[in-house]
Amino acid sequence: MSREFLKTEITFLKGVGPGRAQLLNEELGCYTYSDFIHHFPFRYVDKSTFSKVASSFGTEGPVQLKGKITNITEVGAARKKRLTAIFSDETGQIDLVWFTGVKWVKPLIEKEGEFIIFGKISRFGNKYNIAHPEIEVYQPENIKVGLQPVYNSGEKLTSKGLHSKGLEKLMRVLTALSKDKIEETLSEEIIAQYKLMSREQSLQQIHFPSSMDLLKKAQIRLKFEELFYMQLALIKQKLISQRKIQGFVFSEVGVHFNTFYNHHLPFQLTNAQKRVVKEIRRDTTTGNQMNRLLQGDVGSGKTLVSVLSMLVALDNGFQATMLAPTEILANQHYQTVTELLEPMGVKVGLLTGSSKSADRKVLHDALETGELQILIGTHAILEDKVRFKNLGLAVIDEQHRFGVAQRGKLWKKNHQPPHILVMTATPIPRTLAMTFYGDLDISVIDELPPGRKPIKTIHNFDNKRLAVFQFMEDEIRKGRQIYVVYPLIEESEKLDYKDLMDGFESISRRFPKPQFQISIVHGRMKAADKDYEMNLFAQGKTNILVATTVIEVGVNVPNASVMVIESAEKFGLSTLHQLRGRVGRGAEQSYCILMTSYKLSEDGKKRMETMVRTNDGFEIAEVDLRMRGPGDLMGTQQSGMLDLKIADLAKDNQLLNAARICATELLDSDPDLTNKRNFIIRQELQFQMKKRTNWSRIS
Ligand code: ADP
Ligand code: MG
Repeated sequence: MSREFLKTEITFLKGVGPGRAQLLNEELGCYTYSDFIHHFPFRYVDKSTFSKVASSFGTEGPVQLKGKITNITEVGAARKKRLTAIFSDETGQIDLVWFTGVKWVKPLIEKEGEFIIFGKISRFGNKYNIAHPEIEVYQPENIKVGLQPVYNSGEKLTSKGLHSKGLEKLMRVLTALSKDKIEETLSEEIIAQYKLMSREQSLQQIHFPSSMDLLKKAQIRLKFEELFYMQLALIKQKLISQRKIQGFVFSEVGVHFNTFYNHHLPFQLTNAQKRVVKEIRRDTTTGNQMNRLLQGDVGSGKTLVSVLSMLVALDNGFQATMLAPTEILANQHYQTVTELLEPMGVKVGLLTGSSKSADRKVLHDALETGELQILIGTHAILEDKVRFKNLGLAVIDEQHRFGVAQRGKLWKKNHQPPHILVMTATPIPRTLAMTFYGDLDISVIDELPPGRKPIKTIHNFDNKRLAVFQFMEDEIRKGRQIYVVYPLIEESEKLDYKDLMDGFESISRRFPKPQFQISIVHGRMKAADKDYEMNLFAQGKTNILVATTVIEVGVNVPNASVMVIESAEKFGLSTLHQLRGRVGRGAEQSYCILMTSYKLSEDGKKRMETMVRTNDGFEIAEVDLRMRGPGDLMGTQQSGMLDLKIADLAKDNQLLNAARICATELLDSDPDLTNKRNFIIRQELQFQMKKRTNWSRIS
């Protein structure tokens, strides 16, 4: 049958012998016709139109030019060999340069006649050049009207004639063979409902489009299919694990919750907080284990939500625990939670790496007898020695610092796993959350508590330093405190350290003792010294805290109103936003001052503009995603697992939504896909799950 056709080994394709087959295996991961037909072009060129050299200077995207190549020169010796040439048409000339592949480029460009080149123009001083242009001899008889595919290749493939053109030739053979042999993988209902192109037609059109319009339709169909099966796999996985993993039932809302809610709540909950508390309440009554991710911008009040959830656990005879990634944060949570709950007689304990062993003993005992109801701490809680009487809920703050294995340890703290609430202040764009955490439930606090003054963000170049110092002094005189943050990038740790120390010195000179007190915190200090300095600042005993990014996560000093970020261009958007979130926590107007040098890359400019324009963490995360791509945002390892061939999580937002809805509705109506109408979907899903075992293990 047709499914069999695509399973044919690639060796059998005309033009592919054992040697090429091996190369296709190794270089492109293509073993079968199916693999190869899914090696999609990464772009298309319209070979019928050309730009002019003179008018292409300064353009951003790649250009296609037609002209002559002269002055071919090899520069440098052996390993550092470089090839340069001059390309010209009737309007002007531009340099070409190659750093690799000299061996095969040189004979090509030495040929007679005109060439077509394609590449991105860069500027060097007042000269323009194109590095590593794609290149071919111009043959008027070969010029076709229409879009032609360009494929990813590589040096090894190229040496066996499998450059883009070579791959294209093979693809023509395969697509011709495939006529009437490619089976549909989506059901008729779905194809009709979403008005999708058939699979066969889209696999033809994606390689050899007959028009821009048909190409778009083919892309949409193939992206939809890819996203649909990914979502289907994730949601199915979620359903299976929910069915499998029993959870404690918190059926009561009792005296702890009610007393706190009615008498001790320090302020009215925001609507978003109320909604999330309800979502958590609902999860914990189903009999299944809760695995919920709570996203909320810095300062959105996640802690209070977690406190309310812990009280529900207590009301049902369970203990609760809360894990923080650092000791400072654990301490802070401990303070907050004890202040809130001790008046009600709730017993709260703190366990960190620096808890004394005598205290630990007492703590361990109280935990095992159940006398201690809430335990707050760091990784120390995960140790096997730490045993609960009856742990019902674990809250993890700032999830990305805890690995999967560590979360696994929490699961074993009771005879059946506790409910898990993971909180993160680094908003993840919805598309990513839906894919990377597709099997977690997600809650969002998308509203800040009332009365907050939005932080004012200003971008300054270094020449404004004196004015910034003056501004800092004015704020200090008003009683405010100030953070000054320096980058710490590991590759150049020494340099960063020097920057920090130089900065510290000039600040110390400008803000001398005894009028002003300055704290410093950096990675080379002992943990105890860091804590000491941090505490001085937290208690208002120092005016300025000079630091590296150690203060990034969670620290809460409401009196601090200014965040100065030095060399701000060296920070990523999410870090900048996190740092900014350290101020604006009190009633006063707060400021974030981004200091950069004049030399800013395009990306650097965009980051500064984004920070100045908006305080919305979700918007910033979207910009970040578009600028860096999912790989950089989530870690290449994680996004490598996704291995998307055509869909782009940064751009295909709407399609992903549609695919998710489609998958959800399908599973709602036919959870096990046993309906005959859905037979091909079930079959394809099994096939895909086998191929991509990773999908289920992402989070
Ligand atoms: P984050 O979500 O960053 O962890 P926190 O839980 O630390 O935020 O809350 C930030 C600040 O907002 C805290 O000082 C907290 O007391 C305050 N807060 C939380 N919820 C509310 C609310 N509903 N109304 C007013 N202030 C609130
Ligand atoms: Mg927090």
